[in-house]
Amino acid sequence: MAKPNKIYSVLFNKCPRCGEGDFFVTKSAYNLRNFDKMNRYCPHCGADLVPEPGFYQGALYISYALYVAFMVIYFLIFVNFFREYLDYFLASIIPMLVILTPLFYRMARRTWLALFIKPVSSEERSA
Ligand SMILES: [Zn+2]
Repeated sequence: MAKPNKIYSVLFNKCPRCGEGDFFVTKSAYNLRNFDKMNRYCPHCGADLVPEPGFYQGALYISYALYVAFMVIYFLIFVNFFREYLDYFLASIIPMLVILTPLFYRMARRTWLALFIKPVSSEERSA
């Protein structure tokens, strides 16, 4: 198989090393009981998904960047296409951010780990 793609693994809940094992236990970010449960090791290649205690504190910065990017894009959409409804922007921004929290939480963690793990194809792993 070709080398796993980091963007793919971040977007589709996959291990950044092999691109095949699941990163979070549940597929959906909206499983309210278990959305934050991670696999300790990749179920496919065995990569350590928690390299050290407190590793994911750094994901905070990614999460912050995701929220800011979302708010800027959301605002630009309103200003360009729905300028007469800017009140709705203000009324909807907080609920939107709350709804997106599980999604951004998971994406931030996957991005943070993907920054530190090199993708390895299955041939390289077995060699
Ligand atoms: Zn893996």
